[in-house]
Parts: sequence; C-alpha cells; structure tokens
Amino acid sequence: MKVASFTIDHDKLLRGIYVSRKDKVGSEVVTTFDVRFKRPNIEPCMDIAAIHTLEHLMAVYLREDEKWADKIIYVGPMGCRTGMYIIFKGDLSPKDVLEPIANSVKYVIDFEGKIPATTSKECGNYLDHNLNFAKWECKKFYDEVLTNIKDENMIYPN
Ligand SMILES: [Zn+2]
Repeated sequence: MKVASFTIDHDKLLRGIYVSRKDKVGSEVVTTFDVRFKRPNIEPCMDIAAIHTLEHLMAVYLREDEKWADKIIYVGPMGCRTGMYIIFKGDLSPKDVLEPIANSVKYVIDFEGKIPATTSKECGNYLDHNLNFAKWECKKFYDEVLTNIKDENMIYPN
C-alpha cells in the first residue's frame, strides 16, 4: 500500500486533519491521521522542544480520554515538524476524530505544571521541552483551524 502523505502535493497542503493511510491488521482497520499544524514550506515548522512537549501532552491526554483511550495506537511527531501522526483503531474519518484531537490540543493550551514523563528515566531527551511554545502552537492551530474546520482542511489537495 502506498503512503498517501508521500504522494500528496505538499505545496498545496493546508493545515488540518487528514487521513494519511488506512491499514488492515488482521480483520481490523487502523487509520493514521496527518494532524497538520503548519503549512509545509510556507510557514516555519515547529520548534523541536515545542513539538516534543506536544508529543508528551497529546499522548497523555488521548491515552486517558475515557471514550478514546482504547482506540489510540500511536501519537508522534512528523520528522518535518509540521504536524503529528496519530493512529487510531478503526476505519475513521477526520470528522470522527475531530473532537478527541481538538480536546487534546485544548489540553495542551490549558496545561499547567510539570510536563509528564520528563525524567531522564522516562524520556530520551528530557531537558528538551518547551511548554510555552507548545501552548502557542496549539492555540494558533485551535483558533485558526480546528474551531472552523472546512473540507479543504480534511481532504488532501489534488
Ligand atoms: Zn520525550
């Protein structure tokens, strides 16, 4: 199966929540979402420490969300630092996961205190975090994209 997100035109890609791919695992389907915080190659990508903090906090939120915890397989940053990959159990659309993803972004915006799993035992680069930048990225994405999400923010460009 080809990786949809490698064949899309990144010059036309907007911010949003897209289906990167669907895979069959036995009789089940898992859906990988491209949660794109930044317009690739048009605006600066996320700071490394900010996206690292985003990874920790979004993963914690989604793995504890009552309704979604058992459907979350993976939460991780894209190497290009323009977004996150989130893998869910099930054959899902962006509209299906808008609520838990928006809630995880809100969780980062409102988060106060010590970032979870940031001891040297728990994290491979535990000093490399930036909560304020993570909050800033989340607020921008939430206010400018998630609160008024359109089809063009959920369907890859042709
Ligand atoms: Zn870490």
